[in-house]
Amino acid sequence: MILRARLVQATGSSLDEARLESWNDGAVYIKRGKIADLGPFTDVRTRHPSATVEELRSGLLLPGLIDVHVHYPQTSVIGALGLDLLDWLEQVTLPSETRLAEVAYAVGEARRFLNLLIRNGTTRALVFGSHYAPAQAALFTEAETRNYPLISGLATGDRNLRPELHTTPERAYVENLSLIERFHGKNDIRYALAPRFSLAASDALLEINGSLMKEFPELFFQTHLNENRREIAAVAHLFPDTRDYLDTYERHGLLGSRSVFAHNVHPRPRELARLAETGSRVAHCPSSNAFLGSGLFPMRAHLAAGARFALGSDVGAGTRFSLLGEAMDAYKTQRVREGGVNLSAAALLWLVTRAGAAALNLEDVAGGLEVGRSADLVWIDPLPGTVLDAVLSRSEGAEHSLGAVFSLAREDAVASVWIHGRRLYERGKLQAP
Ligand SMILES: [Zn+2]
Repeated sequence: MILRARLVQATGSSLDEARLESWNDGAVYIKRGKIADLGPFTDVRTRHPSATVEELRSGLLLPGLIDVHVHYPQTSVIGALGLDLLDWLEQVTLPSETRLAEVAYAVGEARRFLNLLIRNGTTRALVFGSHYAPAQAALFTEAETRNYPLISGLATGDRNLRPELHTTPERAYVENLSLIERFHGKNDIRYALAPRFSLAASDALLEINGSLMKEFPELFFQTHLNENRREIAAVAHLFPDTRDYLDTYERHGLLGSRSVFAHNVHPRPRELARLAETGSRVAHCPSSNAFLGSGLFPMRAHLAAGARFALGSDVGAGTRFSLLGEAMDAYKTQRVREGGVNLSAAALLWLVTRAGAAALNLEDVAGGLEVGRSADLVWIDPLPGTVLDAVLSRSEGAEHSLGAVFSLAREDAVASVWIHGRRLYERGKLQAP
């Protein structure tokens, strides 16, 4: 199958080197779920004369978007105004997460969550799970049914949450192990350990995470770091003998290229240096950071230290699933922050595609339009009469068109989404799993 479209992607091996590559009348030839050829339409057509052609001549066809931090149980809490992190958790989010103890409710949440990822063009995601093993199994099962490439795992905490959400280190070990054995490595599912944050984790719980990472080196690790000043002070109080927040994880062997730390809004220099040295990744979640008043992400300090980051929607403190909107919030955060980075459209696209793929160790699999990669694609085609439609109809260059997409596109501008070459969403219709 050939998709004929205006193709746009970001190339380059770092944010500074991000450049746009585009074909106004381009084509992607998809075979067995992968990109098998691409380039100008006439060339691709000549090389594959018998392939069927689907015409997507308006809008833009982009690589699938990659979300490196989003919470499965939090869709329904989006929009709880007026609270900072710890009050928001206590008053709104943790009570809501206890509802996933009921399996039928969790199954509904899992379906809705994956539907929303897909219809927003998110073709890969590192997902923070539920505290309940059956609810977590429901998410994996739902992803398996659709062949959605999911990285996720049981959320764990053994203090300072609500009693219903608490586990013990022993139980966390057993439940993680059981989920790993049942799902990890099957049908494009990967397991990611997920202690909620050090404020909710004893040393014993963090230690079992370290043991599991040693036992299964191909697991991912995800947690929260340096999000909010009151949280950071509380962590320092709970762990008086650590050098800083990152050290609460570091001393259990939890740093490395398969580890993703959400937020890092208030890092110390040692933490940035260690994140860089260990190849650990940061999930920058700008809408969440603004929503909870957590602060303005120090992007330039991350770049200067060589600490790598990608973007996360952080639903439900984040206010949407759309990574296009999230990229615009990243842009605005840097514009507002003194000494912020001036991000180009290429840099924004790079962050939600290539950087996400790199953060999830998928550099050769996703994040770009190249032969051999998975055909994960999102077609942005605005509804007639919308502001985005008005701007794109007069826009000539890829840079400006893409800037308009980041500024204006929301989920209604997503016309189709393909994962592994299969169209899972076509405007208004999700493919039945
Ligand atoms: Zn989070």
